[in-house]
Amino acid sequence: MQRSVNQHFEYNIQLRNTVKVITKVTTKDIYWHLMNKKPCEATACSKWELMYPNFVFNWDKIFALSYSFCTETKLQSFQFRILHRYMLCNKRLYDMKLRESPLCEICDEVEDIPHRLFYCQECKVFWNQFGAWWENHQLEC
Ligand SMILES: [Zn+2]
Repeated sequence: MQRSVNQHFEYNIQLRNTVKVITKVTTKDIYWHLMNKKPCEATACSKWELMYPNFVFNWDKIFALSYSFCTETKLQSFQFRILHRYMLCNKRLYDMKLRESPLCEICDEVEDIPHRLFYCQECKVFWNQFGAWWENHQLEC
């Protein structure tokens, strides 16, 4: 989207292949301009890949999973926030200078997203119990 000023001192905007005076631009113009843009990879993807270099990420499939496996909006939103690394944890709050320490209050390790969801002592208890429940559930099926 490029901007310019014409001889009448009106702002012009280039949308797709046309130039329009800004006062004549409709939401439909902006919608189609955005729809025709090339999709870009979320910055969170490269951060996850850096954290787990041995894992092969199929991002199209990963992003589609949250919508194909569950219909609960809150769970979809939760998965979206995890994938986009938009989840508050002590490390993030510390980086934003909103906390004095990045450490977890339970186990004194740096609390980032993986720690908060998987590696914290409290989470390990949950995952162990869930694993046991899942094994029993699998045997019943
Ligand atoms: Zn912890």
